[in-house]
Amino acid sequence: MTVIHPLRLRLSNAYLLTGDHRPVLVDTGSPGDGAALAAGCAAAGVDPGDLALILHTHVHSDHGGNTAELARRARCPVSHHEGDRALAAQGHNGPLRGVGLRGRLMAPFFSRTAFPSFTADLPATDGQRLDGFGVAATVLHTPGHTGGSISIVLDAGDAIVGDLLMGGHLGGKIRPGKPGFHYFAEDAATIPRSLDRLLAVTRGRLHVGHGGPLAHADVARWRDAQRARLRRVADPVTP
Ligand SMILES: [Zn+2]
Repeated sequence: MTVIHPLRLRLSNAYLLTGDHRPVLVDTGSPGDGAALAAGCAAAGVDPGDLALILHTHVHSDHGGNTAELARRARCPVSHHEGDRALAAQGHNGPLRGVGLRGRLMAPFFSRTAFPSFTADLPATDGQRLDGFGVAATVLHTPGHTGGSISIVLDAGDAIVGDLLMGGHLGGKIRPGKPGFHYFAEDAATIPRSLDRLLAVTRGRLHVGHGGPLAHADVARWRDAQRARLRRVADPVTP
């Protein structure tokens, strides 16, 4: 049985998956998080040299910031979805699109944030099983935040969902269990479908890139309330 260990880093969460298999790391934090990552691995009893796989929910500076260095040390395969290949190769976030007023105000400060570039050894694809790495889980393509954003859905019910959702305010420091949209989205219009797909195949906790974890029932309620609000806005006013 796989255990999810959250590694709470400076700006984001990475996750270690351990069990009766070699450890798998999901996301690697921001440049400069190397020592915190090493400490998190040690606390979970993991030697980074033993990693079987470094998998990415998506490629942004705060999720793939230490991949190049870790992969050199671990000599394990690196994986992300094809949709984020250009981000990994260019080694910076590119221009970010803000969601809502706060996102639009913040976008210029995080656009083009740099990280050491890297290339994937294995593509992560929709429906791909991770049993080959000892983890009973399926990759779900959940684009919107980036074109190559994925969620890792464990058979036991929990999922690691990256920046499809965010928990709380100030990067999760306040009310970390409160569901919300991330500040940035490459294509915000695709997020509702990704969220619907995710909620249909999960039932436990949703582990996010910032804050969290989120309870499935809270996210489902929040999604329905958002929908009702959007419907009200779209309804024509009848005199
Ligand atoms: Zn991101």
